[in-house]
Amino acid sequence: MIKRKKQLLLVAHCVLNQNAVIRDWERAQGGFNELVHAMLAENLGIIQLPCPEFAFSGEDRPPRTKNEYDKPAYRTLCCCLAQPVVEQAKEYQRQGYLIKGLVGIGESPSCDTLGNRGIFMEVLLAMMSEAGVELKTLDISEDYLEGHGEKTLREFDCFIK
Ligand code: SF4
Repeated sequence: MIKRKKQLLLVAHCVLNQNAVIRDWERAQGGFNELVHAMLAENLGIIQLPCPEFAFSGEDRPPRTKNEYDKPAYRTLCCCLAQPVVEQAKEYQRQGYLIKGLVGIGESPSCDTLGNRGIFMEVLLAMMSEAGVELKTLDISEDYLEGHGEKTLREFDCFIK
């Protein structure tokens, strides 16, 4: 009988769906296949986060800076989108699952987790912390391009071990 590994990874929406990014900014035809394969090879369950910018401004939105997004209406939306994810994470943690971390998008005004943290990740990580879910994070660097992801794959390998 197959037994679940009970390990999970949270990923920014566009890791699995580049259709959500700003037009002409996509870095793969569909998802980041090489990276997703590496996640699946670890037998991780993947929880895809919502795309806050798509939810706020749609598919044909213009590029915006973090300051331009940093308005109460956007923070409120981020909070609403984050809430069900936090609830899921709490329940998994309560049931003994291990959440291995969160993969964000470097330099994104919404989904960077490490540098100039994006607004959605600011909100989500604060809510997670408040709920007792501490997450280590990795950002996909700006130079990742499908088919040339060796550096990111190495970084992911270190992150997940
Ligand atoms: S807002 Fe986040 S999930 Fe949406 S396209 Fe930008 S980086 Fe990806």
